[in-house]
Amino acid sequence: MALIDEVEIRVIGGSGGKGCCSFRREKYVPYGGPNGGNGGRGGSVYLEATDDKTSLLDFKYQPKYQAERGEHGMGKEMDGRGGEDLVLKVPLGTLVYDQDTGLLLADLIEHGQVFECAHGGRGGKGNRMFATSTNRAPRTTTPGDTGEERQLRLELRLLADVGLVGLPNAGKSTFLRSVSNARPKAADYPFTTLAPHLGVVNHKDQTFVVADLPGLIEGAASGAGLGHQFLRHVSRNRLLLHLVSIDDTVEAVATNVAVIEAELMAYDKSLMDLPRILLITKIDLLDAEARAEKLAQLKAAGVDGLAISAVTSEGMSVLLDKLAAAAPAWRSQDVAGQSDSTLAPVSAVDKRMEMQEGLM
Ligand code: GDP
Ligand code: MG
Repeated sequence: MALIDEVEIRVIGGSGGKGCCSFRREKYVPYGGPNGGNGGRGGSVYLEATDDKTSLLDFKYQPKYQAERGEHGMGKEMDGRGGEDLVLKVPLGTLVYDQDTGLLLADLIEHGQVFECAHGGRGGKGNRMFATSTNRAPRTTTPGDTGEERQLRLELRLLADVGLVGLPNAGKSTFLRSVSNARPKAADYPFTTLAPHLGVVNHKDQTFVVADLPGLIEGAASGAGLGHQFLRHVSRNRLLLHLVSIDDTVEAVATNVAVIEAELMAYDKSLMDLPRILLITKIDLLDAEARAEKLAQLKAAGVDGLAISAVTSEGMSVLLDKLAAAAPAWRSQDVAGQSDSTLAPVSAVDKRMEMQEGLM
């Protein structure tokens, strides 16, 4: 299944320049000593996480990256210049796997975080390096080493604080649009409408990222549809907002809630440890009286949540206040969790989530 948030690339360090064999040649000095310079080292290939990028799309079009080779050594003890490093920018949340061993090499989550993925080759030695007391005119040189070469798989896992889950039509996209200042960057995901959409929310001096996770459909956890691929992203969230539309029978609403809960559970039980807020959406569709009655019935049926409308914004400020209050704790976990996030297995929910205190 072709997904735009997963690409394979080949990265090759530049090879080192050759060492040079050369002798001093001066007027009146017939047999000058060796003066061949060393080869320059080859450039290395680095991946650098940046918040300017939101997809791995660019890598689809160019699957191979090689850093510059080192210059060869020259006479007159001139060493070759080192090859330029090649720095490839990747979005935050990029996981880097060695395709041959399957090992996770790096998890790039912070702006400016750098990972050397293919080391440049060492430069070769010029003949002057081989001069000894018994061999004053060595002709030996070494070629540069070849650069390291790797086949990598890059996988983008989005780093959102808040994930939106719910059945299709629950109102996730509408919710995201109403709370965030960012429009989903559809252009970044031309090949799929199922890529998660991100929005940035600013509220009470707090900024946090909300991800709409479409794709979550019944059967997703067992591999049906694309849901499974995107559920992966959920594991980074600090909190889940579970949206369900009020615009249905009490039984149907209860079933809709249960379906999503079962999906989360089936995908990864530890997701159930994440704080979750149930949002009963579209309350503007009912008048005050009908609404109160329906909410009471739902509560009796075990469906208890915050009642909101993305259209009239009712209930929104209460919700955003709660999220803004929780956000500082997410930030401190970002710092505290750095070391254990470096090589965490993909399927595991971050340890730092275990530290998360329930919101509700
Ligand atoms: P998604 O599939 O979960 O992303 O749901 P959408 O955001 O696309 O919403 C599905 C439908 O419900 C759309 O026609 C929306 O206009 C409508 N909708 C979403 N939220 C609200 C709401 O708060 N009030 C009302 N009246 N309609 C809503
Ligand atoms: Mg949607």
